[in-house]
Amino acid sequence: MEKKYMAEPYKIKMVEPIAVTTRAQREEAIRRAGYNTFLLDSEDVYIDLLTDSGTNAMSDNQWAGLMLGDEAYAGSKNFKNLRSAVQDLYGFKYVVPTHQGRGAENILSQILIRPGDYVPGNMYFTTTRAHQELNGATFRDVIIDEAHDSEAEHPFKGNVDLDKFQKLIDEVGPDRIPYISLAITVNMAGGQPVSMANIRAVSELAHSYGIKVIMDATRCAENACFIKHREPGYEDKSIREIIREQFSYADGCTMSGKKDGIVNIGGFLGLNDEDLYQKATSLVVVYEGMPSYGGMSGRDMEALARGLYEAADYNFLAHRLAQVEYLHDKLNRAGIPIVKPAGGHAVFIDARKFYPHIPQDQFPAQTLAAQLYLKSGVRSMERGIVSAGRDKQGNHHYPKLELVRLTIPRRVYTYAHLDVVAEAVIDLYKERDQVKGMRMVYEPPVLRFFTARFEPIE
Ligand SMILES: *Cc1c(COP(=O)(O)O)cnc(C)c1O
Repeated sequence: MEKKYMAEPYKIKMVEPIAVTTRAQREEAIRRAGYNTFLLDSEDVYIDLLTDSGTNAMSDNQWAGLMLGDEAYAGSKNFKNLRSAVQDLYGFKYVVPTHQGRGAENILSQILIRPGDYVPGNMYFTTTRAHQELNGATFRDVIIDEAHDSEAEHPFKGNVDLDKFQKLIDEVGPDRIPYISLAITVNMAGGQPVSMANIRAVSELAHSYGIKVIMDATRCAENACFIKHREPGYEDKSIREIIREQFSYADGCTMSGKKDGIVNIGGFLGLNDEDLYQKATSLVVVYEGMPSYGGMSGRDMEALARGLYEAADYNFLAHRLAQVEYLHDKLNRAGIPIVKPAGGHAVFIDARKFYPHIPQDQFPAQTLAAQLYLKSGVRSMERGIVSAGRDKQGNHHYPKLELVRLTIPRRVYTYAHLDVVAEAVIDLYKERDQVKGMRMVYEPPVLRFFTARFEPIE
């Protein structure tokens, strides 16, 4: 039976027309893009589910905040508003604004990592791991096994496996582990949450060895909503209380404001230690800007400060998770292989099971993303072998999960748009036998998924 869905807790005040294209136009567009959806022009896209990053619709309150931008070079009042929002909602003492999440990752990796170190994490994220490796660290995945199995139903599939973490400590010694990188939620696992019990246990284990806990706070509000819905003892707590408790176990965080900040650009580093904060401020001036603006304008900081509060609203979050679940449920009922259960920001199609006849080194997920665009003008993203990149020896990483991500921007699309997406995926599944894989014809040295080019295998 079709699930009842939660209506939007907002109304529409401004609209942006979107392109309706023909099959012939899309064939031309995807060929020009080297069959990489990252390289498509947005004008050629009908429903854009590439990412939820920076694609959010801001509220009237945030737009009003843009007019209050204090664009002084130093000491902007909007920085003070951003800082107090982070102190109030997240509880970190020190805030270093950056142009987006990876700016914070760059600074954090430089101040904490020494060459030869190991950084454990609950599954990698592309830019996070890239910064760790650029600073000489080796990333170790310590997420629970269920996270690598698209079928496994687990309410907190983003949890850390404490045995794996302990094993790494025993193997390399705590001195070689500056921090554990704990993502809440885990993007690459399907937007899967981490339980409060697990966060607490990870923090206890790490701190008992003097290892820091650094959270990737990118989707921390969505994680809090999952905890409220799924973890016994939290059903009556407010989202704000849950967010605060999450961060009470951390020594710092990197944040991409482009996700749960509900803005189009921005991010920050949150810290509690004064010495680390001093180190971070001396780097931020080199890479981003003054410690009172990082890489952001005053108005951007104001929009982010307001967005952080809006993202901590239960009605906003419940609707967001309901939208994701709606699309998840539609595809699931049609028998499409997807990552279960529904995550926080996206529905992930298991491309290996969708196209079982395409070997992983012929890029089944990249192929499916290209086919979905051709069929419907819907843009999605590969999160599989292309995103995983190569190891130090130059071989492909072969991730267990070979996924296509249908990412839902915040407050942008309606349930009717999601119906269009579901129908296109279901049609493609019926025609799956006719599709062949692709070969890579251009590959950049790092973060190849952004700009790699492909050709269909004839
Ligand atoms: C987007 C993202 C980042 C990086 O943030 P940017 O703002 O894109 O630089 C880091 N971690 C996770 C989990 C993300 O989703």
